Amino acid sequence: MRSITTLELQYAHRFYGFKGEAQYLHGHTGVLTIEVEDTVNMGVNMVFPCNEIQKTAWEVLKNFDHALILRQDDPLLPAVLDVYEKQGIKDGAPNNVMKGPAFKTELATAYPECRLVVTKETMTVEGMIKIVYDLLKDKLNIAKITFTSGVNAASSEFVTKNKIERCPLCGIALDEKGVCPKCGYKKTK
Ligand SMILES: [Zn+2]
Ligand SMILES: [Zn+2]
Repeated sequence: MRSITTLELQYAHRFYGFKGEAQYLHGHTGVLTIEVEDTVNMGVNMVFPCNEIQKTAWEVLKNFDHALILRQDDPLLPAVLDVYEKQGIKDGAPNNVMKGPAFKTELATAYPECRLVVTKETMTVEGMIKIVYDLLKDKLNIAKITFTSGVNAASSEFVTKNKIERCPLCGIALDEKGVCPKCGYKKTK
């Protein structure tokens, strides 16, 4: 069975080198749906609490929210960084608080201090699904990701691979010692 959660991301991007209007900088509200698959945890009668899926995903993905997403070879990148530098906001500003921890994967690097994500490939809806899966695949048993942005939408299915032990009292993942970080339940045996 699957537990499904949806979250919104507002971002600006462009398709560098694309012969269409998307080659100009523009913005979207993207809607990301994550489907987590596992057996039903009999203790709580759910696969995984949806708010916990959202919390795990948001911790990383908030780096994309109100962010500028540019491909690594886009000449706008050094131009924007130059402006931020001259403005003194490249390495952070007191009112830039909604930041996730910086990350770097094969596909994307987040610079939360200046709300920028640099991608290897063009950030289409398909590209975003690849990035999101890569960031969350070890944390959640992701069976499917759907991403819609304006008139564009894409989805991809994945084979779930993690053995995640869940608390029978509140449903969240137990830590490596078999203890629930939320309610303190300890696995016996
Ligand atoms: Zn777009
Ligand atoms: Zn618990």
